[in-house]
Amino acid sequence: MKIEIIKCLQDNYSYLIIDETNNNACVVDPSVSNPIINFIKNNNIKLKYILNTHHHHDHIGGNIELKKKYGSKIVAFKGDKERIPEIDILVEDNQTWKAGNFEAKIYHTPGHTNGHIVFYFFKEKKIFTGDTLFSLGCGRVFEGTNEQMFYSLDKIKKLPKETEIYCGHEYTLQNSNFCIQQDPKNFKLKDKITKIKKKLQEDLPTIPVILSEEIETNIFLKAKNIETFSKLRDLKDNF
Ligand code: ZN
Ligand code: FE
Repeated sequence: MKIEIIKCLQDNYSYLIIDETNNNACVVDPSVSNPIINFIKNNNIKLKYILNTHHHHDHIGGNIELKKKYGSKIVAFKGDKERIPEIDILVEDNQTWKAGNFEAKIYHTPGHTNGHIVFYFFKEKKIFTGDTLFSLGCGRVFEGTNEQMFYSLDKIKKLPKETEIYCGHEYTLQNSNFCIQQDPKNFKLKDKITKIKKKLQEDLPTIPVILSEEIETNIFLKAKNIETFSKLRDLKDNF
């Protein structure tokens, strides 16, 4: 299984998950269709599935065009049936979604939106976290509560430490500024910031990141309880 990172809009990431045995692919959160279409054209890929983490437009904007062009099936959360148009396959919390060699565990992670889900490809230990978990940050709590977001992040935290995280946005550098303000003595974080800056200077994504590293450097994952988490979330909203 190969992952291609596709930059979309200002700072969104869509991902192509490609089964190299047959060139079948899934796209995660296509913000827009054009960059995806271009990649598919140049690489002879069959886009079978569109996986959505949540209903926000910068995550589903390319859905319908891709579906029309390639006959792909949209996979999304049951609870978002009314607000993600034309879903073909409804999934729910704790379900395993399987299609050919693609196999992902679905976790419901409310907080950013009520219907947010993440896709954990457990055979490959790769997780697509949308706007629930970012590198060195987490999504704003728009529809849910801080408590829900805390438990949503906790589900991800409990996955194998070597899990690779693919998130919805390139927010890593901005996020690092907040983390280092809150956690100025964290040497692993300082080290990471140097690496982040280098990558961005070379116009490379800072994604994926490894869960074990995030747990040591992401201040939101370091929060031990809901109170601490809520305080951090409020501070970050006004940062
Ligand atoms: Zn969002
Ligand atoms: Fe987003």
